[in-house]
Amino acid sequence: MSKETAVAEFKAKLRGELITPNDAAYETARQVYNAMIDRRPAMIAKCTDAADVITCVNFARDQKIRLAVRGGGHNAAGLGVCDGGLVIDLSLIRYTHVDAEAGTVRVGGGSLWGDVDHATHAFDLAVPTGIISTTGVGGLTLGGGLGHLTRKCGLTIDNLISADLVLADGSFVTASEWRHEDLFWAIRGGGGNFGIVTSFLFKAHRIHTDYAGPMLWEIDQAPEVMRWYRQFIADAPDDINGFFLFLVVPPGPPFPEHLHNKKMCGIVWCYTGPMDKAEETFKPIRGFLKPALDFVGPIPHPALQSMFDGLYPAGLQWYWKADFFNELSDEAIEQHMKYGPQLPTFQSSMHLYPINGAAARVGKDDTPWGYRDAMFAQVIVAVDPDPGKKDQLVSWARSYWEALHPHSAGGAYINFMMDEGEERVKATYRGNYARLARIKAKYDPDNLFSVNQNIRPEST
Ligand SMILES: Cc1cc2nc3c(=O)[nH]c(=O)nc-3n(C[C@H](O)[C@H](O)[C@H](O)COP(=O)(O)OP(=O)(O)OC[C@H]3O[C@@H](n4cnc5c(N)ncnc54)[C@H](O)[C@@H]3O)c2cc1C
Repeated sequence: MSKETAVAEFKAKLRGELITPNDAAYETARQVYNAMIDRRPAMIAKCTDAADVITCVNFARDQKIRLAVRGGGHNAAGLGVCDGGLVIDLSLIRYTHVDAEAGTVRVGGGSLWGDVDHATHAFDLAVPTGIISTTGVGGLTLGGGLGHLTRKCGLTIDNLISADLVLADGSFVTASEWRHEDLFWAIRGGGGNFGIVTSFLFKAHRIHTDYAGPMLWEIDQAPEVMRWYRQFIADAPDDINGFFLFLVVPPGPPFPEHLHNKKMCGIVWCYTGPMDKAEETFKPIRGFLKPALDFVGPIPHPALQSMFDGLYPAGLQWYWKADFFNELSDEAIEQHMKYGPQLPTFQSSMHLYPINGAAARVGKDDTPWGYRDAMFAQVIVAVDPDPGKKDQLVSWARSYWEALHPHSAGGAYINFMMDEGEERVKATYRGNYARLARIKAKYDPDNLFSVNQNIRPEST
């Protein structure tokens, strides 16, 4: 069969649209969130259901063409798109069904987290996720998932009950603690290496209103804040989450004018304990050093989840570097004070996410997410709309990372990595890598799913 005939047959089998470079929709369809990524796939299939995904997988495998899978398209390394080959775009498989009685939520494989926050909130429920609601459920979940509820509810993967997947041979399976247990283990942190998830089933938590928001201090007070924070967060009850950041205060409301464009440090808090205990809980926090800005108060959970969306629209230049840390040492703080105050642009930042509490009570080989004993996931984020600033962004993030890396635990959260090579991927999975490689060999021996933080199939 000629290539043209094979493509025509493939297109006829799809219920969704097949977009090629000659189509008007192509330029928009190939774009991902990070504008630094500029790739030109041969075809983009907008799948409407699992049947379309199966058709795509069979076509790509039989035609031996490169395959990329796009969930929310947020991956900074651009893992939702490839040059040449086929992109399986899941954005039409987007739904959230809440079973309030069971406390579970079924979510389509191409959904965004804002969809889930919106649907669950009506039932006083929430699923632990990241801090920007336009992020895809697919990529964030398969890589781990950390955010405002990590200390209380664990990572997103710790709340995954089951997933429906299309495998490399075109078969369709459900993975859970009881079915395809090895696959279920692997997808809780192993990324998109093992199959394409068309549907996730999550456990939800009874959360409606948080006592949350940012608290900011002068940037030269950062060493004092960091030293206080490292002790506080190590001992804090699970009900309190708070990530440390360096930031440039956005030049607009609700921020007071005298702080606009000012470089500061801060903690974004999220308290999910009893509301009548919130003020009392925050007394020592407010008491240790008076903040220059205190925006912490009662807020509906979806409002917190989308608080920073406006700051980070799609189409910006993104470059980031990450590491896990066992502690925030005085030596590390010294390096932070060299690079944090040099934030190169107003959207650039450094976040230090606590991963103790509930996330740390999962065993380090219970899922592939091996850094359960680390204290922080750190990410240095360089962002700007101007493509001309690319070199400046990359250079600041790399120098900052190089200065901090010797103080780190070794690997990095897979979802905060660029394309950094096999050794970095191995360092991240630590002792779990060999098991992942064996499961990869069983479910995807020819590495069809390779546009990801790749785990090479190895049967030994
Ligand atoms: C602004 C911003 C904020 C972020 N904040 C957080 C945060 O707070 N917490 C956090 O944990 N992470 C965060 N991240 C990182 C985020 O988790 C990753 O970028 C993640 O890969 C995004 O998932 P996606 O589906 O949007 O990405 P995509 O680019 O679509 O996909 C990323 C990878 O996942 C695979 N994939 C996606 N969906 C599926 C699926 N259904 N089945 C199989 N494979 C799939 C893709 O093939 C690809 O390899 C953030 C990212 C950005 C850009």
